[in-house]
This record gives sequence, C-alpha cells and structure tokens, in this order.
Amino acid sequence: PQAPSSYKRVLLKVSGEALMGSGSYGIDPATVDGIAADVAAVARTGIEVCLVIGGGNIFRGVAAAARGMDRAQGDYAGMLATVINALLMQNALERHSIPTRVMTAIHMSSIAEPYIRRRAVRHMEKGRVVIFAAGTGNPFFTTDTGAALRAAEMECNALFKGTQVDGVYSADPRKVPDAQRFDTLTYRDVLANDLNVMDAAAISLARENRLPIVVFNIHEPNAFSRVMQGQGRFTTIV
Ligand code: UDP
Repeated sequence: PQAPSSYKRVLLKVSGEALMGSGSYGIDPATVDGIAADVAAVARTGIEVCLVIGGGNIFRGVAAAARGMDRAQGDYAGMLATVINALLMQNALERHSIPTRVMTAIHMSSIAEPYIRRRAVRHMEKGRVVIFAAGTGNPFFTTDTGAALRAAEMECNALFKGTQVDGVYSADPRKVPDAQRFDTLTYRDVLANDLNVMDAAAISLARENRLPIVVFNIHEPNAFSRVMQGQGRFTTIV
C-alpha cells in the first residue's frame, strides 16, 4: 500500500455510535466537534476528504426489525438518521472554517444536494469536504457498504474506518481480554474468519476495487490526523 502521506483523496467512515460520546443515544456536541477539528486539520493539509457518517446512535433498521418492525421501513428511518448526523457534522466543520457539502442518496433538496458522482468529485477538487448521507439509499445495506461504495466511486486512495478500538482484533477486546490484535490483514482473512470490522458486502467491494481499509480508534486525540501520518496504532486491510 501507498504511504499515507502520498494520499490525494481519502474517505473517513465514522459510525453513529462514535458521536454519542459517553452517552448511550444521540449526539454529544463536544465529541462531534472533536472529530470535526480532526477532519479539519487533515483537510487543511490539502488532502481531499470525504465522510460517511452512520446512524446507529439514533436508529438502526435491523434492531427495529428484531422488535417486529418492517425491515425496509426501519432501514429508511435509519438512513434518515444518518442525514441528521451529517447536518450536525457539516455545522461542526463549518465552525472550523472548512467548506462542506452534504450529498444525500435519498433526495431531500431543501437541506442537501442530491448525490451526483461527478459533482461530488468537483466539490472535492475545490477543497470542499463532502459528507455522504443516507448510505447507499437502499434498505438492507449499511453505511459501511455505503462508505466502500462512495470511496470506490470517488477513487479514494483508502477508506479510513474510525472505531472504538485501535484496530481489528480476533474478538471484541472489551469483552475478551486476550483477544489478538492485528497490524495487517487481507480482505480474505477478514471474510474467512468473520472478523467484526465491516460487513461482508463492504469488504468484498473494497477487495474488488483494491481499496485499502485502515481501522483506527477515532476517540484518541487527533486520531485521524495522526493515522494519516502513519502514527499511532491501526490495522491495515489490503
Ligand atoms: N441504512 C440502510 N441502507 C444504507 C445505509 C444505512 O438501510 O445504505 C440504515 C440501516 O437501517 C442502518 C441504519 O441506516 O441500520 C444506520 O446505519 P448503520 O447501522 O450503518 O450506522 P452505524 O453503525 O455506522 O452507526
């Protein structure tokens, strides 16, 4: 894989959960601001950055389906949750003087632009951070798959996945203390061992498009900026 410092364009996926801070639901403004400051610092170095934000801090279709809700309907609600998060992240980035655009896969022309691939590329060339909302626009998918899809479409050098831990482990290290941590993995390793990092659809899409995935802990101070410089701990999937 390329040295991170030579990256021209990257996509950062942040899960909705990462925006909750120490809470168990919704949005913690200080946490959103911290991530925005980190993204702003990377954008100021001249690297083109786009974002995909999840919605799990507000609504998840699968969880609702487990309680009897129609899955597709729940998924649409989940996609709307990602739009709320995207608008908040846009506001936080603009407070750091970073020009941004939100583009949604579900048309909501009063609040965001519709997703048009070539227009998104143009925004990034002009130095705007583009936030992709509403995932893929389709139920039965996740924002991880949306992230892999948009990263491929934008011809990003890598997909950065900010998580709650410093890389990929053989099991959840918060539950299994002797879980093994990996510095590098192949897409095949992740799929064959069912490693819990991104869903199989997202990993397959990344593999087909030779899109490296870098998994790191988003909650470390300046985590994204540091991992862009190859500092700190992270797992690279190639
Ligand atoms: N979702 C969907 N299609 C997509 C992306 C997301 O239906 O392409 C829905 C799905 O219900 C999902 C919810 O939006 O549970 C929130 O996204 P996700 O669970 O990926 O968020 P994260 O776990 O990253 O916070």
